Amino acid sequence: MSVSPRVLLSIDYEPVFALFRHYDRVTDPKTRRDMDGGFTARAIDSILDQLSDSKASIYLVGEIAEWYPDVPQKIVAAGHELGLHCQFHRPLVNVDQLASDLRDSSAWRKQYGVQGYRAPMVGISEAAYPLLESYGFQYSSSIYAPAGTLLKKGWMWEIPVSTWRTRDAHEELVAPRDFSFKLLLGGEFPYGSSFSIGLMARRILSIIEEELKRGHSPVLIMHPYELVTPPSSARLTRDLMRNPHLIPFLWDKSPFLRDVLKNFPVSPLKTYLDETLALNEQPSR
Ligand SMILES: [Zn+2]
Repeated sequence: MSVSPRVLLSIDYEPVFALFRHYDRVTDPKTRRDMDGGFTARAIDSILDQLSDSKASIYLVGEIAEWYPDVPQKIVAAGHELGLHCQFHRPLVNVDQLASDLRDSSAWRKQYGVQGYRAPMVGISEAAYPLLESYGFQYSSSIYAPAGTLLKKGWMWEIPVSTWRTRDAHEELVAPRDFSFKLLLGGEFPYGSSFSIGLMARRILSIIEEELKRGHSPVLIMHPYELVTPPSSARLTRDLMRNPHLIPFLWDKSPFLRDVLKNFPVSPLKTYLDETLALNEQPSR
């Protein structure tokens, strides 16, 4: 049995500089806060306005909760699911690094009862699932896989970010499954990625419509800097010139979000998971 199909909308709530790997080495909290320049504190109000009455999963980078404790408060007060993206944004495929990051986010995760995790760059290893479980997580959304996939990993669940299969395949869905040439060559188009949304928003709206008709609930990722324009700066211009492949991440996707909210039912990932689990617990006749 399955619950009513809907778009599982998620926002990885992170500073703009999280796009660029050379800032991973900057560890001083004050420098990182200065680099954000108040953007993540300002953007939240506009994003909550844009979401209006629709509810989403917002996976927060924990350092933002330290800089601006208002941000997680506003997310929860508006009725959205608050999840963890990471404490400091960098690749966390390595489980020792993930464990250290999870320890750093303990306080605010506990305060808000966080149960959902989205790995930075959608990069995770199989060994991460028992670790996340031991830290009280219920689910992760940290691989790419065809919509409608729900994987059990021990007591944890994995709700993948959506891909569209151009041809049938029956391989086991084992982590990592990030946005890579391997995925594309295997005939999978990761339309749940905001990079793809930047390139072909219209096409993705029609894919979503088809998925919902098939009874699937697509998982989409967006970012704050795609919904609210970050202030231009010489640093950002230089970073983009050095990383032109990242430019689609900065295209304004608020019209896309508006279309999604206008045309389709939307829910947080946790709501969908809880409904699915409750439905399947009932004895079948
Ligand atoms: Zn991220």
